Order: sequence, then C-alpha cells, then structure tokens
Amino acid sequence: MADRPGGAGQWARLLQALEDDCSLCGGTGTTPNERWLEWHRRAGELIAVAQAARRAHELRPTPGSAPVAVPERATAEPAIVTAVERAIDDHMKARPSEPEKDRCEACRGMGKQLTAAGRQFTDLLARHGFVRRE
Ligand SMILES: [Zn+2]
Repeated sequence: MADRPGGAGQWARLLQALEDDCSLCGGTGTTPNERWLEWHRRAGELIAVAQAARRAHELRPTPGSAPVAVPERATAEPAIVTAVERAIDDHMKARPSEPEKDRCEACRGMGKQLTAAGRQFTDLLARHGFVRRE
C-alpha cells in the first residue's frame, strides 16, 4: 500500500528520520551514576574475595591421605573470611546516597538525538524563526 504524498505514514517516516536513540544512553535517557558504578565494582570484588577465601577454607587439600575428620578448630571460619564478611557488611551500609541513574547529559533525559537530517530540519526551522536556539 503506497502512502499518499503527505499521508500519515509518510509523515511518520519523515519524523522518524529526524531523530534517533541517543548514542550516549541508548535511548533510556539515563546514564549510570559514577559513584554507584564504583560501589558495584567494589562489591563484586569483595564478594569474589569472600568466595575464594571460603573455597580455600573448605577445599583444603589433605596430601597423600584419604579425607579425615576435620579437627574442630579448623571448622571455625578463618579470620580472613570473617574480615571479608565484615568488609562486605560495611560496604553494604556505605551505599551512595544519590540515585543509581543520572539524567543523560547528551539528550537531557529525552533518550533521543537529532540525526543529520534532523539537524538540517531544525536549521531550516531556525532560519524561519520557528526554533529558538539556547
Ligand atoms: Zn541520552
């Protein structure tokens, strides 16, 4: 079905060609907050360290012998595990106070940016006084 000139389909396509998803935020209008990124990165590190410490504790090799009953003292969590878990607790309490997402600077939260055609179009509108540039 062909669109009549000036038909709704044609206009929709023209308008679509004028803007695109923002390349910085991918159309979401938000970008991750830097402090939160750092907080998540550190949380991931701490959890990895905790898991490694726990694994090392559980899978301690017993060279040259069948598994034997582990002495009572050794089943207690080693200091490293306790220390890392305390660090994780502290880290959880030290969450950044600001929101996890910032408004995208590039599109000012719209999620859209002008295409080359869109810029030409707004230039045309500006020439005719329809668009006020800030
Ligand atoms: Zn954006």
